[in-house]
Amino acid sequence: MPSLSTTCCIAGGGPAGMMLGLLLARAGVDAVVLEKHADFLRDFRGDTIHPSTLEILHELGLLDDFLKLPHQKVHALTVQIGGETVPIADFSHLPTRCKFVAFLPQWDFLNFLAERGARFTSFGLRMRAEVVGLLEERGRVVGVAVDTPEGRLDVRAPLVVAADGRHSIVREKANLPIEKLSAPMDVLWFRVSRRPDDPDTGLGRFRPGRLFVLLNRGDYWQCGFVIAKGTFDDIQRTGLPAFRESVAALVPFAADRVTDIRSWDDVKLLTVLVDRLTTWYRTGLLCIGDAAHAMSPVGGVGINLAIQDAVATANLLAEPLRRGTLTDADLRRVQERRALPTRIVQRFQVLAQNRVVAPVLASRARTLTVPFVLRLFVRFPWLRRIPARLIGIGFRPEHVETAARG
Ligand SMILES: Cc1cc2nc3c(=O)[nH]c(=O)nc-3n(C[C@H](O)[C@H](O)[C@H](O)COP(=O)(O)OP(=O)(O)OC[C@H]3O[C@@H](n4cnc5c(N)ncnc54)[C@H](O)[C@@H]3O)c2cc1C
Repeated sequence: MPSLSTTCCIAGGGPAGMMLGLLLARAGVDAVVLEKHADFLRDFRGDTIHPSTLEILHELGLLDDFLKLPHQKVHALTVQIGGETVPIADFSHLPTRCKFVAFLPQWDFLNFLAERGARFTSFGLRMRAEVVGLLEERGRVVGVAVDTPEGRLDVRAPLVVAADGRHSIVREKANLPIEKLSAPMDVLWFRVSRRPDDPDTGLGRFRPGRLFVLLNRGDYWQCGFVIAKGTFDDIQRTGLPAFRESVAALVPFAADRVTDIRSWDDVKLLTVLVDRLTTWYRTGLLCIGDAAHAMSPVGGVGINLAIQDAVATANLLAEPLRRGTLTDADLRRVQERRALPTRIVQRFQVLAQNRVVAPVLASRARTLTVPFVLRLFVRFPWLRRIPARLIGIGFRPEHVETAARG
């Protein structure tokens, strides 16, 4: 069986895996990221790079180059409820270098990390490398089994990091205990073409029974149509014309383009999961990002949390990995550092899902009224700094503590 040895083998080239690979390689630790797809060009990942992630890029000396990529700066978040535009977050007062959320397709972000990682000799990235199993010896994880176009490959390492997302195969194979939280919705994901005279940002639109998100991707809108969990079959039964009509009612400026949705094949169902591991590690294995805690799309903070996990992991593990002294206690420290911020964010997400998303989706009223709490944001602009802080920075922000050695 062909095999490869490294110091840290990372399953999954999403935000958590790519950032960890870059940080470890920069700190002089050999790291190989295994990504099952041939490229990063997938649609379902979310397009938000938050102020705290931009801060990390600054600490790595990458911010200026990153901001040269085409992106949109969003300084404040608003949602449309009924006919009213309600401001909910104002990032302009954050104590960060960038006081905005950068919107750009996630594949641009991941390609950027891949390109920067490749400048370190310790960095390895294998595309079309799907982790299919764990290699174990005497109860200890010692590597992963990988399917590649050339056949099976064993990758051996003192540490395997599962960063393979919310359907993580690694955490499943490791039998780590999972706590499931409620997720009352799913998302239908599709594109509608965009014209230069369309608005710049779409973001959230709330109507009775409807919750819709629009992301500006230049020549098209990436649309997220939030539906009650398990109702996609019913929506399909009512037919494509009815679905197109409901989209047109939500985005009247693009009503003439809903025929871009030619068939149900153009509409992807994204199942929303919210869960977390009660133990993030086993000897030789650590889970981070969505593999440790699947995040709801609410607040668009999952990428940020995944990056923060990667930074904490590199801060705590680079030294023991380099010295060859890694123990379970080191892995436990990562969980202890990141579990609390995760629980707090998930608590807010579940609260928003139950108090806002589910009632909006269940509403049969003629029109939605702006809830009292959100009226306060209109009346007292300084209140918008609170959600800005929660979304833009989160709890226990991480900073790069590893020195560049690569
Ligand atoms: C509908 C929806 C919209 C969202 N929108 C946003 C948003 O706008 N902003 C935001 O911050 N968060 C958003 N999120 C949450 C966000 O997508 C995740 O929290 C974030 O992507 C987690 O990053 P990650 O690196 O842990 O995992 P992922 O981004 O899921 O990356 C995992 C990677 O591992 C790879 N992989 C999987 N299995 C294997 C395997 N066996 N072998 C090798 N590679 C493998 C995958 O191909 C993928 O590249 C959204 C979530 C959903 C469901």
